[in-house]
Amino acid sequence: MTKTVLQHTCFQAEHPLSPVGCNCRKYVPATEADRLIGEGLAQLIIASYKTLTVEESCPTCGEDEKLRRSCTHCRTTGTVQVNKKIAVYGDAIIVTVGQTGKRQSNTTAKKTPRSPTIEAGHMMRSIGAYGKGSETAIERINEYEILTLKERIRLLVAALDLKTFEAAWTLWESDTSKEFPLVLRSEPVDDARKGEGRRFDYGRPV
Ligand SMILES: [Zn+2]
Ligand SMILES: [Zn+2]
Repeated sequence: MTKTVLQHTCFQAEHPLSPVGCNCRKYVPATEADRLIGEGLAQLIIASYKTLTVEESCPTCGEDEKLRRSCTHCRTTGTVQVNKKIAVYGDAIIVTVGQTGKRQSNTTAKKTPRSPTIEAGHMMRSIGAYGKGSETAIERINEYEILTLKERIRLLVAALDLKTFEAAWTLWESDTSKEFPLVLRSEPVDDARKGEGRRFDYGRPV
């Protein structure tokens, strides 16, 4: 049996990432949950928090040898003990909350998620026309190129279910120097009589 996890669609303002006592009863396959999280469309719920005590460099003297000797904040040790709250994630996921813990309106409203596009601003930014942020813009353009390539390859894979394709894609993405693991459809050979092939298929009667 495939593993399934609870998918929350509720929103609890006081503790959005740790819903309790709701009526959510929808279960999705764990692989689907992983995909949603990977695409930023869902978050893992936080089951609890634990506190860890960690040693950090003193914020007052910054472990500077001279300052440290008279630092009252760390009592001349150069380090301080800090309590850190660490989230312990549960198995369930939630689709109504974004990564920052804020309400994610596009999923609650069941709108089509926005597709990534490249606008003039991104292009200008990528070549450094606006100073900062060229790396993010380049990343965005590369990501867009990958999406386009993926879609083109998907159309070339002869009648196949999405899951098999996604698996093959992930495999190929990990090492693109190898050939794509699935058989791709190829163009029909040129045939003037049947109007086929790159040379003779005009897509309309001539
Ligand atoms: Zn819920
Ligand atoms: Zn100090």
